[in-house]
Amino acid sequence: MSPISSHINLGKRKLHKSAKEYFDGIRKGDVSTLGQAITVLESKSQEHRSTALELLDMCLPFAGNSKRIGITGVPGVGKSTFIEAFGSFLVEQGHKPAVLAVDPSSSITKGSILGDKTRMMSLSKSEQAFIRPSPSMGSLGGVSRATRETIILCEAAGFDIILVETVGVGQSETEVHSMVDFFLLLMLAGAGDELQGIKRGIMEMADLIVINKADGDNQEASKRAKREYKNALHLFPAHEYGWIPDVSLCSSIESKGIEKVWKIITSYFELLNDKNIFDQSRSDQLSAWFHSSINQQLKELISDHPKYEKLINELLNKIQTEELSPSSAAHTLVHQLIKE
Ligand code: GDP
Repeated sequence: MSPISSHINLGKRKLHKSAKEYFDGIRKGDVSTLGQAITVLESKSQEHRSTALELLDMCLPFAGNSKRIGITGVPGVGKSTFIEAFGSFLVEQGHKPAVLAVDPSSSITKGSILGDKTRMMSLSKSEQAFIRPSPSMGSLGGVSRATRETIILCEAAGFDIILVETVGVGQSETEVHSMVDFFLLLMLAGAGDELQGIKRGIMEMADLIVINKADGDNQEASKRAKREYKNALHLFPAHEYGWIPDVSLCSSIESKGIEKVWKIITSYFELLNDKNIFDQSRSDQLSAWFHSSINQQLKELISDHPKYEKLINELLNKIQTEELSPSSAAHTLVHQLIKE
């Protein structure tokens, strides 16, 4: 679609640029165009979607040149304080960090846990940093799709460290884990794992556990917790690529231990490079993206189409009256899709 026709076709809706115009702005590092383009990615409208897909294909060859880092931990552990300190440290080191959030709860509760505007005050003022709250797209699949795409745009805009923040309480960290190179789990001393709501599966995914709030009266307890978590990590299966997960202490509020965290992360990337497996890690992420897109798009196709809504209701009735098991009902629906 030409820039002109894309404007005309939008009718009364807010004008939006062509994919090429977004692309040019993004490549120049213009954050206002980047922000607008992300809004287009997050949109469900068909016109926006086709612009978004065109834009993504344009950006992809210029993306990939970053370190993608996932950060998780329960609410209150200090994620935004940590990212504020860590992001500011990275800016001082000459990096350009982009902070994205994956918070599927925001669409349910309407108020996002991760999207609060007062968070990361000083980092948000830095011209070298870019902060984008979680999209509210109704489902985890939708939110993570938008985040995967946003990573590509941010990289094409020149951001070289992508921090993807998520709340460590549900499914979202598995999604985030599949879109990043390195996964960091923030924990606290003095609270049992159960209290922190962290499931064993999340600890298993962590490349690094950072014990936050290791300051004041909490220092001794934090050191103890570090030893305990180190022992616990030994019991988990070895990580991919031969990486041995570490435990580190930090005080986000006092900006202590931040440099150490960065050192550990850097050594992880050195390991990937030494073993020539960085490309493998990225190709795994692309496969995960593809599979998750198939799931997402099939779901959207089924739920957005009135024809399937009718069939779904008929099948649901048959499930309720025990004529069909949920498995065979799903089988009927999927085969109907394939036939068409
Ligand atoms: P989030 O919900 O995980 O994003 O947590 P926040 O970053 O909002 O922090 C929750 C609370 O913990 C806030 O009151 C912070 O000031 C406090 N906090 C965060 N990091 C530290 C730290 O390193 N030391 C101490 N003592 N408090 C902290």
